[in-house]
Amino acid sequence: MATSVVPTSDSIVPRIVTIVDDHDLTLRVTQYTMPLKASEDGRDKIKAIVDFEVTRQHLIDNSESDFIQHLLTTRNFAEAGKKTIDLYEQNPLAVEVILCAIYHKDETWRSSSLGQEVTTRTLNLHWENLWEVVISNRFLMIEFFNLDTWFGLWYEKNGDEHDSELLYPCFQFNHADGFLCITKNLVYNQAHIEEYRREKYPDLHVPPRVITRGHLRVLLARWLWKPLDLMMMAECDCKEETVYQYLRALAKTRGYPIDQQGRKSVDDICQSLGKFDLSDTRGDCLMCNNNWNGIVTSAVREVKKHFDGMCIDCMDATQPKFLNEHMDYWSHAESKQWDQKCRVSHGQATWYSSFMGRADTRDWLLKRVRTRKRSYSSV
Ligand SMILES: [Zn+2]
Ligand SMILES: [Zn+2]
Repeated sequence: MATSVVPTSDSIVPRIVTIVDDHDLTLRVTQYTMPLKASEDGRDKIKAIVDFEVTRQHLIDNSESDFIQHLLTTRNFAEAGKKTIDLYEQNPLAVEVILCAIYHKDETWRSSSLGQEVTTRTLNLHWENLWEVVISNRFLMIEFFNLDTWFGLWYEKNGDEHDSELLYPCFQFNHADGFLCITKNLVYNQAHIEEYRREKYPDLHVPPRVITRGHLRVLLARWLWKPLDLMMMAECDCKEETVYQYLRALAKTRGYPIDQQGRKSVDDICQSLGKFDLSDTRGDCLMCNNNWNGIVTSAVREVKKHFDGMCIDCMDATQPKFLNEHMDYWSHAESKQWDQKCRVSHGQATWYSSFMGRADTRDWLLKRVRTRKRSYSSV
């Protein structure tokens, strides 16, 4: 890393990080040990100062940020011939990621040894700092899609070491694959779905209603009950005994009744139900001699493959729509190509729950609830 030490008037020693060789601008990032109060200059709370050496024109042309463009092209700035811009209360690691993402679009920089050095360094970013990247990116008003490629590389290198805690970063940086895997894992392997949350940033989370809670349990309960609907119509003498045997065999697995398995994940319930055994009913009619083991096995198998996870592309309300959101809904429902135009392949359950998690659908549902409340209160 190209670093050297330059003392400032305040005797704080900035670390110099060269992002590009023929630089003509310095972004001086100051990080503090705690958030500053209004009117506080924070001199005694400085944690680090990092000077990033960059090129003015490249940032103007490639940052896609009105904030940066305005900052670097105002008459004041140009006339004063300023060479340093101060960014306060930002994490330098996060700013470095953002600069890397902006310069990474340039093939020459990307393949240069300095470009590779900067990229490698940012890919070692600790996962918890991803939240700081979001904060700095918002501060600099850079469109998030500019960071998608960088995050794809980071996820490729680090994704395997993490689990559901990357739900929000995958959502924010538009990583379809990661988001699908994590949401699937949450739904199948956690008894209570909770999003990992950085205490410091309570406003950074996936949209509400993103995870459909409990739907798989409802399906499993329904499929296990289904054969009993038929038994209610049976006319044989052995029907009561068979129903009792079936329910007892289910209860013996300790995975039934489904609505009493609140402490177990869907996967755990399926594992319990795997112990189901009713190969020998006492009834001797055709109905009672149903393949009970087969019924339970196939219910478990169907539930396990029912949901592929959530699809960001289906959630993305900015996708091209046909006339309006309702046409968008029906065109999918009619074509039955549930992963049309999606980066990941998936089935209907994923499309449906992702669609329901969309902002426009959410707003529509909320509006409906509010209208209903109003009409109840006016009765
Ligand atoms: Zn019978
Ligand atoms: Zn999709």
